[in-house]
Amino acid sequence: MSKGRVVITGGAGFIGSHLCDKFLNEDYEVICLDNLITGDISNIEHLSRNKNFTFIEYDVTNYIYISGEVSGILHLASCASPVDYQKYPIQTLKVGALGTHKALGFAKSKNAVFLLASTSEVYGDPTVNPQPEDYWGNVNPVGPRGVYDESKRFAEALATAYHRIHGVEVRIARIFNTYGPRMRKNDGRVVPTLINQALQGQDLTVFGDGSQTRSFCYIDDMIEGIFLLYHSSVTEPINLGNPDEKRINEFAEIILRLTGSKSKIVYQELPVDDPKMRCPDITKAKNLLKWEPETSLEEGLKKTIDFFKRSL
Ligand code: UDP
Repeated sequence: MSKGRVVITGGAGFIGSHLCDKFLNEDYEVICLDNLITGDISNIEHLSRNKNFTFIEYDVTNYIYISGEVSGILHLASCASPVDYQKYPIQTLKVGALGTHKALGFAKSKNAVFLLASTSEVYGDPTVNPQPEDYWGNVNPVGPRGVYDESKRFAEALATAYHRIHGVEVRIARIFNTYGPRMRKNDGRVVPTLINQALQGQDLTVFGDGSQTRSFCYIDDMIEGIFLLYHSSVTEPINLGNPDEKRINEFAEIILRLTGSKSKIVYQELPVDDPKMRCPDITKAKNLLKWEPETSLEEGLKKTIDFFKRSL
């Protein structure tokens, strides 16, 4: 018997499609909504004959109507890579603002749990490291990243207001850099970019002097964290990510070693407002969800490299 019906917006994207798999494996029915701007139908193709899975090509900035009972809506829809959200700035703002509003209204009407995929970008270019949830951030509202950062900050504020005023059961996942199979080869993010450059014998493009840091979480760990948060009763924001922090040039060296590539590292201009450091403080997730990542960077990268090798 089904444990419930959940709607996953952005369900054909990288994290969204893995969440579809997870909820189906855990005996839920899943309705996936995606307008396929950055999502990819091939991520959910394997689910097309699953009787518990429905895909609807839909832009969730419009009114969401689905008949029958729904126990939860997970709002993943958004451009999420810096290259994508700078290419689609207005769509990014609309899905974070209007899309979140529609998804919350839908949750309220169905008495359903609402989970927001928020982001470490709410901390902007942080002045404290690692970042705890009670750090308010350092965001440039009119910089190139502002469209994403501010839409997610607005989404968190709106979700919290729906919780306070309408009693909607909200969950807010602040998702830090996540990687793994089904990332788009050309989404511009550092993981797929450097792996594919290494596999194709091209120079690895490190931006700036590569001293900026990121902390990379493998997709399976992230999915587990989101699933646990969804089933918890925690309504305040929770950081989900892997605190294993690396400099980007150090990360490039790891990619070269794991791929066995002879490529060189070349240094290119650092994009405007590129955060200098990023690392989650996951004390809250550990205490409240009993969650922490289990996959080492090397282990996760090997699986990701295998995925990109197969799709070369
Ligand atoms: N980066 C890089 N080379 C690339 C792509 C990205 O050095 O080809 C850097 C980028 O400047 C940033 C980090 O890698 O400092 C992570 O970038 P990404 O686009 O993956 O996501 P972000 O964490 O900045 O949102």
